[in-house]
Amino acid sequence: MTTHIFLDGQFIPEAEAKVSVKTHALLYGTSLFEGIRGYWLPDTQQISIFRMREHYERLLANCNIFHLETGYTVDELMARTVELIERNAPSTDTYIRPTIFKSGEVIGPGLDKTETSTTLWNVPLGEYLPLGKGLSVTVSNWRRLSDNTIPPRAKAGGAYMNTALIVTDARKRGFDDAIVLTQDGTVSEGSAMNLFMVRNGVLITPAITEDILEGVTRNTIIELAQKELGLPVQERVVDRTELYVADELFFCGTGAQIAPITSVDGRPVGPINDATHKKGEIGPLSTQLQQLYFEVVKNKRPAYSHWCTLVNVKSAVKA
Ligand code: PMP
Repeated sequence: MTTHIFLDGQFIPEAEAKVSVKTHALLYGTSLFEGIRGYWLPDTQQISIFRMREHYERLLANCNIFHLETGYTVDELMARTVELIERNAPSTDTYIRPTIFKSGEVIGPGLDKTETSTTLWNVPLGEYLPLGKGLSVTVSNWRRLSDNTIPPRAKAGGAYMNTALIVTDARKRGFDDAIVLTQDGTVSEGSAMNLFMVRNGVLITPAITEDILEGVTRNTIIELAQKELGLPVQERVVDRTELYVADELFFCGTGAQIAPITSVDGRPVGPINDATHKKGEIGPLSTQLQQLYFEVVKNKRPAYSHWCTLVNVKSAVKA
């Protein structure tokens, strides 16, 4: 079966979906993108695309920052995405990558003198970060970009050179990933995921003014924690050393899902004295939220089924 890609209004075979080496986005990183997960539901032979509307709303809102004009509405992008999944009919969890990019072949980074393209494709994706072992992370000595440099609120292609430095250097130093600080030295987020901390029964996450991507998963967790677990949630400034005294820490994101962290800079994460949750072990709220999250994304919680777009990918579609 040929895999199809959506490019500028048409579905074409993957082998034909090519851009020039002179493409503006390749030269200057001038793209905005999204990462959306589709979960395979074997019982019903469907893909559950999670919170697709919110991803496209974020993408189109952020186009305004970068003077990008895709020409598509949120509903049109959603319809094209459903068609992509129907055509490619994956029977595994899949990752959908919409990208709006400057596709002209002009020299000079200005965004105003070159055309814009829109593409959608999907690939199989399992775990982006290990979910069950507890991650060992470091506080990166690279800083997050700031709102007045390349705004982290937008998922801008070029901004991911910052992520690339953070994650690569962390891995080279033997860590699984890294937490990154703002220019002011307060906690921002993970390399490519948001961060939550539990302290004394309160769920805490850096505020949206802390140079983070305003994560769809972050929003999901805030809502689930409050509604389903009755947890108080604070969005606020987080000091670096709060990481070293936290009861629990976890990353979250479309790719990362909910990935518990069990050590930061060689310090085990956990409460001082709790027989049921020893330092360096995955915490109970992280585990509970992880279980709940997987039920919700797989459309097993009717109260949240409006977040799941179900696409039928039965073998008949593949023919
Ligand atoms: N921060 C960054 C820098 C990211 O790249 C991502 C992944 N998209 C996230 C946070 C998590 O965002 P979301 O939950 O919307 O995927």
